[in-house]
Amino acid sequence: MNVTEIARQLNVSAKELLEKLPELGIDIGKKAIKVDPAQAERIVQKWAEYQRKLRAQEHLKEREEIMAHQDETAVEEAGEIELPPLVAVRDLASKMQMPVTELIKILMKNGILASQNERIDFETASIMAEDLGFKVKKEQATAEGAGEEDLERIKNIMEAGREHKAVPRSPVIVVMGHVDHGKTRLLDAIRKTNVMEGEAGGITQHIGAYQIERNGRRISFIDTPGHEAFTVMRSRGAKVADIAILVVAVDDGVQPQTKEAVDIIQAAKIPLVVALNKIDKPDANVEKTKKDLSDIGLLPEEWGGKTVMQEISAKQGINIDKLLDMVLLVADLEKDRITANPDGPAIGTIIESHVDKGEGPVATVLVQNGTLRVGDCLGVHGANYGRVRALRDWRGEDMAAVPPGTPVKILGFKAAPAVGDIMEVSINPSELETKKVKANRRIIDEMTGTKRIPIEGEVKAQFNFVIRGDVLGSIEAILGTIEKVDVPGLAIDVIAKGLGNITEGDVLAAEATGAVIYGFNVKALAAVEELAREKKVEIKYFKIIYELFDDIEGRLNAIVKPEIVITKLGRVRVAAIFRHEAKYMIVGGPVIEGAAEANAKVNIWRGEELIGEADITELQSGKQKVNDVMLGQECGLKLAGKTKIEVGDILEIFKEESKTKEIKLSVKN
Ligand code: GDP
Repeated sequence: MNVTEIARQLNVSAKELLEKLPELGIDIGKKAIKVDPAQAERIVQKWAEYQRKLRAQEHLKEREEIMAHQDETAVEEAGEIELPPLVAVRDLASKMQMPVTELIKILMKNGILASQNERIDFETASIMAEDLGFKVKKEQATAEGAGEEDLERIKNIMEAGREHKAVPRSPVIVVMGHVDHGKTRLLDAIRKTNVMEGEAGGITQHIGAYQIERNGRRISFIDTPGHEAFTVMRSRGAKVADIAILVVAVDDGVQPQTKEAVDIIQAAKIPLVVALNKIDKPDANVEKTKKDLSDIGLLPEEWGGKTVMQEISAKQGINIDKLLDMVLLVADLEKDRITANPDGPAIGTIIESHVDKGEGPVATVLVQNGTLRVGDCLGVHGANYGRVRALRDWRGEDMAAVPPGTPVKILGFKAAPAVGDIMEVSINPSELETKKVKANRRIIDEMTGTKRIPIEGEVKAQFNFVIRGDVLGSIEAILGTIEKVDVPGLAIDVIAKGLGNITEGDVLAAEATGAVIYGFNVKALAAVEELAREKKVEIKYFKIIYELFDDIEGRLNAIVKPEIVITKLGRVRVAAIFRHEAKYMIVGGPVIEGAAEANAKVNIWRGEELIGEADITELQSGKQKVNDVMLGQECGLKLAGKTKIEVGDILEIFKEESKTKEIKLSVKN
């Protein structure tokens, strides 16, 4: 990429840019003409930071001048507030009883660009609050996430649920310790021991948590770096983690964050297992590290204490299995606590959250009680945050229902919730109407033998945009045309609209919702464009309405999944199981309705319950391979899938065909 082009985008002269870059830590030489894309991105980022700093300095100077002229007593009045170590912008605004947009503006003036869900640290928050005349006190370590009442209520729900029915669930483990002691490396090493991953052969997705299987038992690991793990640990309501692994590098011993981690773990009243890491290093000193640990109250078992310790090397993969066995042992001791009630709507804690370019806001939640399902209505802080469009495990595989103790990535949030927030599935009365429609539709489908996916009302694809125009007429014309797009499973939301140039508020709103910004005959100031680049928000300018429609059409067609039409073929009752392997089964039985066809799929029903799906990879009649078997005849089926089929199950045989319909904006037709 040409340096002159970058300079033009950044609104400076190439000369000025090249002169400034070394100061910003980028040395490409004063005569550079071209840079590679990675360098270009760094330049844009560093420049944005620099501009922000300049603006913040200016603002600070202005403020100092104002303060110097102000009567000090006037500032005292606003009152006292308590702030936690990290506070969501939205929560800070409510503590100061001011509109969140107002606070975002004030933050922006101070060079801090944060959306309402983002968290800012205590120092920044207290400067803002003190500026506005508040006296600030630091809240004790417990407070993060939802408000007290919320938590109390949720705790009660969980306890009531457990009293009603408590079944064992996977234990949830958090890894903590001083920086560079090997937390990330250990989490990687544990992930590699995973049999479940091997089976799927898929690509690991970093969703902030993962599960492994050891000795036939599942263990969930929270896999968030740095202070996010702390945040999650501290989320109250229901404790997120059941057991902590404290990583201590034996070449470095106990360090400040080791102590901090121990304090947090003890405050949360959860057991810990110490991983004495880096035993492969020449300067490893296990004895000294144990002594350090004893000094902070963690006495190893062999010295007469109670703390479980295991020497490991995360780098060389030594003793990882032993460490996991220790964890399971501790989990066994805690088994009365590691339970949940899988019935009822789900409750969980957000452990990772971000806005994805293609998928919009996504978050990983650890389900702690109840079962989370596709289609569930998502509530955070009592507000409607959307509806579950898809659930994916850390291997990227789709899940239909998620039991307690399991982390899952959720698609379908309208806005990204904050880490540590509590998510609740709400049963919203206004939805009863849609449920009725769906039920009716199912009956019609049953009658015709056809089922359509997506079922009407279920959003499979979402397109969000912001529109700014020069005259009201053109905005209305654009919105009018887009409103007419009516494709099942596709939702289009206008996040913001208005007259005049694109603003910083538009960019922040677009960032929070994964929206694209359209400017029709309007512009954006350089600072706004800079912010958009930094937040990776796309702004597109148009002067001709059809070109704008072309752009929207392109995007809609790209996100709309083909409609899948399902045709039912028949039913087989399972009368015998011939073979049962991990990935397939061979079963046999009579065709009791329609016909069985090779290469079709089956839904497996046990009584009223749909328990799984499988693919027919071979169909036999007698000893012969055949393409179909008619009503009343016996057949043998080889089924690829993981569901354990039993005698008496009903196999519902169906075919899937996908159909894509191209979306055209009607004004052009
Ligand atoms: P974190 O900050 O606690 O997540 O630490 P990391 O996992 O990033 O590890 C910090 C550094 O220590 C990296 O360079 C790792 O490769 C290294 N490291 C981690 N575990 C071991 C180990 O068992 N042996 C050795 N020799 N190095 C390790």
